[in-house]
Amino acid sequence: MPEYEYFCRHCQLPFTSAMSVKQHDERMAECPVCHQSKEVEKRIAHVYTVTSRKSAAW
Ligand SMILES: [Zn+2]
Repeated sequence: MPEYEYFCRHCQLPFTSAMSVKQHDERMAECPVCHQSKEVEKRIAHVYTVTSRKSAAW
């Protein structure tokens, strides 16, 4: 099962949740602290944006 990263804005707490891709599509994860999902946002794990190249080149 893949693990997904989330962040609860209510608690200011990042957490991970392991669920199937189907579950992930159907509903948001619940925060383990406040047990709400409306303040939870998804985080994209293991993706790095390549925008810091400018400073390295010069
Ligand atoms: Zn929370």
